Amino acid sequence: MTTASQQLANALRPVKHVLLDFDGPVCSVFAGLPAPEVARRLREGLLASGEQALAGAEDESDPLALLRLVSNARPDLTQSTDAALAALETEAVQVGRPTPGGESVLRACARSRRLVSVVSNNAGAAIETYLSEHGLSSYVAGVFGRAPGDPSSMKPNPRLLLEAMEAAGSGPEDCVFIGDAARDVEAGEAAGVPTIGYANKPGKDAKLAAAGAVVIVDSMQMIADALA
Ligand SMILES: [Mg+2]
Repeated sequence: MTTASQQLANALRPVKHVLLDFDGPVCSVFAGLPAPEVARRLREGLLASGEQALAGAEDESDPLALLRLVSNARPDLTQSTDAALAALETEAVQVGRPTPGGESVLRACARSRRLVSVVSNNAGAAIETYLSEHGLSSYVAGVFGRAPGDPSSMKPNPRLLLEAMEAAGSGPEDCVFIGDAARDVEAGEAAGVPTIGYANKPGKDAKLAAAGAVVIVDSMQMIADALA
């Protein structure tokens, strides 16, 4: 065993409930409909409904960051913007790219009788669409997407992780969180849950380590193998 796989085995041994980020560990949401295009369509929708351009919005290529920006500048537009983004995310997941090994993690959890909850800043409806279209719904006990109309629920806020644990009746000591961003590790820390960092791009390993990830892997298959 390599050191990383030993660390992984140790981190997973006590785990009964796997909390799983969606974009990254399960699929690449914006692989087919790129994030900047989604952000552009979101802006166009706002302008088409007669709204003025918002400061800073034109340069924002991350749709979730754009949702935060709109919500901060114009709280009255939060609900409608969130709903428009959820529709675009649902469109995006249908041309998204499955992460190699992501499905194997879900199957390995089922085989080892571990519960899985998806905890994501993406819209729950989009996540459910993806899982259903890929025949994966039965592998997931709960989907905890951002609270509609409340972008403050998004990670690094631990709220969604806490809700997932409460729904399953599990505690932090039963759980691990698998995520690919520093904000995931921060949310995990705030919820008392150790986070396994999935470094799917160069440079992410350093960010995940700096945030405090307990183990860092560059392949979801490695996690699936360790769960088996
Ligand atoms: Mg992610």
